[in-house]
Amino acid sequence: MLDDATMIFRPGTAVWVEHPDLAWAEAEVVSSPATPSSPSSVNIVLSTGVKQTLWLVGLANSPCEQAVVDGRKVLPRDTEADLGGVDDMTKLVYLHEPGVLCNLARRYTLNEIYTYTGRILIAINPFAKLPHMYDMHMMEQYRGVQFGELSPHVFAVADASYRAMVSENRSQSILVSGESGAGKTETTKLIMRYLTFVGGRATGDIRSVEQQVLESNPLLEAFGNARTVRNDNSSRFGKFVEIQFDKSGRISGAAVRTYLLERSRVVQISEAERNYHCFYQLCASGQDADKYKLAHPRNFNYLNQSHVYELEGVSEAEQYLKTRRAMDIVGICFSDQEAIFRTVAATLHLGNIDFSPGKEFDSSVIKDEKCKFHLQMAADLLMVDASLLLSTLCYRTIKTPEGNIIKAVDSSAAIIGRDTLAKTVYARLFDWLVDNINKSIGQDMESRSQIGVLDIYGFECFKYNSFEQLCINFANEKLQQHFNKHVFKMEQEEYKMEEINWSYIEFVDNQDILDLIEKNLRAHPRLEKPKLSKTDFSLSHFAGKVTYQTDLFLEKNRDYVIAEHQNLLSSSKCSFLSGLFASHQDDPSKSSYKFSSVASRFKQQLQALMETLSSTEPHYIRCIKPNSLNHPQKFENGSVLQQLRSGGVLEAIRISLAGYPTRRTYSEFINRFGLLVPEHMDERFEERSLTQRILKQQNLANFQLGRTKVFLRAGQIAVLDSRRGEIL
Ligand code: ADP
Ligand code: MG
Repeated sequence: MLDDATMIFRPGTAVWVEHPDLAWAEAEVVSSPATPSSPSSVNIVLSTGVKQTLWLVGLANSPCEQAVVDGRKVLPRDTEADLGGVDDMTKLVYLHEPGVLCNLARRYTLNEIYTYTGRILIAINPFAKLPHMYDMHMMEQYRGVQFGELSPHVFAVADASYRAMVSENRSQSILVSGESGAGKTETTKLIMRYLTFVGGRATGDIRSVEQQVLESNPLLEAFGNARTVRNDNSSRFGKFVEIQFDKSGRISGAAVRTYLLERSRVVQISEAERNYHCFYQLCASGQDADKYKLAHPRNFNYLNQSHVYELEGVSEAEQYLKTRRAMDIVGICFSDQEAIFRTVAATLHLGNIDFSPGKEFDSSVIKDEKCKFHLQMAADLLMVDASLLLSTLCYRTIKTPEGNIIKAVDSSAAIIGRDTLAKTVYARLFDWLVDNINKSIGQDMESRSQIGVLDIYGFECFKYNSFEQLCINFANEKLQQHFNKHVFKMEQEEYKMEEINWSYIEFVDNQDILDLIEKNLRAHPRLEKPKLSKTDFSLSHFAGKVTYQTDLFLEKNRDYVIAEHQNLLSSSKCSFLSGLFASHQDDPSKSSYKFSSVASRFKQQLQALMETLSSTEPHYIRCIKPNSLNHPQKFENGSVLQQLRSGGVLEAIRISLAGYPTRRTYSEFINRFGLLVPEHMDERFEERSLTQRILKQQNLANFQLGRTKVFLRAGQIAVLDSRRGEIL
């Protein structure tokens, strides 16, 4: 990372060395054998505390205290750094990986969970309620205050975007990203709360636009969030909320767009995970549960595949009431609410309809009396004919040139059909909720400026990666490109403002991988096919390599409603349900929907999102999950580093390093390095020319003297520090 790295390591220099366990460890240089044959090897000793692990982790061959390490894996360490850390990474003396990591860790220990990297906010999940961190008083404090004046905070970003919108009349967007459990959704809610605080009318009306905007959160969470191994309240969809403001900066409307709801969860869950919250809420709802003949979740196939039914500290009965209340506020009428929960209950009964092989070859019959009860219940709740429901599941119509043939299906196909039906109904229900929220809150067509908040899944790389991961990672590539372009532009702007030459900073674009994914994966250096598998392929994403398993790709990509299901559901006597499945023959834009695929729809949505984003001024928040146990006060270096990498924070730093990562005002510079030219310190000096004199004297080149600051290339400050160390 540092051009001049190898030359600075005098004995006694404080350094960081790459460390297999800690990512980076504190050390000191013993000697650097600068022989021409091995110019890069450095003899180091680890600092107290990490010493004993030296040989255990393979840095040394025996339990000694010293080791010879590759000079390229040694970076200078600032020994004068404040133990409390700095609130902006750009204030670090050394802006490099270990510097960034150590700064975040120090701050995290003090519950300083927010840190800036220039304009980017890094937020580390505290996994604990921090007293007063988000109360009214705090919101008051941040209101109208210049960005950077107070400690880093999510409210500062929200406030900056609000003020920029009001004063420049320009739409803003706040992009929140991070891995599952990193705190995106909580952060998004805090932003929305702040925006309704500064832009609300404070009328106390519970059906005000801002209350509706806020209440859309618990509603969508009830139907779109679930417990996963990573997060008890994991959002299983992406979300972009656009809050519209009128001329006087008051909230006048809002629109919610959602992306890629995970449908498979409705019918299939893994151990330790749960289905969508609404199912458990309804089961615990008392009278309503009785009305729909529901019982404990363990009685339903769609819920008992995992043995987790409860969430720590959560009362499902209370949550049910909250969901109903949110529906009231958002403006869903009582009869629609009834229809929604009737459909949710029907889904559970549907899942309990099992089949056995029929008498004839490849046919199926309903398994037993219990299943017949659930069939009747499902049909009653869906308000469809029970025999039509049964035949829809047990038979299939095949179109032939001679006419339609009705064919029985075997029991496993009947079960697959049942699950497909459940997923279809649920997905439509979710879309209806989103549409309804939008209709009810209302769009302000006159609004000239908006603030959009994006809460979308970060880059994913699991043991098994399927279609969903490809879509998610594709979205992340798109957002990364947007991010890089923006960071790059911001750098340029600062250089321009300081009137310095910035022409040689290169910009690495990831357009090639976007083309690769969008244009059907032709041979490409970023694409690999593992030799042992016919169906797998690997892509080298900006955030790392991911191997995808394609076996379920086609099935997961299918996005049309089976004709028999469409017929069944549109025959429902429940107008809510038949409305969800009304055929769209009169509307040509919707009839093509039938032939679309999940991927093509997602691609279109993403395109629209990118267009919206590009017309706004973006603000970035990178959420970090400090450990995989969801514990407070535990900071795992390796994983944090990985997240900084995949969130583009390291890339932003790299872009900065490619230019002039160190900027100091002239007086800051003279204060620190004036002692290198003591002969001139007595004279009446002019800061800018004295700065130049110091740098020239140290044989440094390629620095830039801006209007108010000196801009140094990576590594130059280390050289200066080293000389300063010799004098002190
Ligand atoms: P994500 O949306 O990134 O998957 P969430 O926003 O759902 O993650 O956060 C996961 C959990 O972490 C929350 O349920 C909450 O317990 C905790 N958490 C997140 N952000 C904060 C915060 N700012 N303060 C306290 N706890 C938080
Ligand atoms: Mg979330």
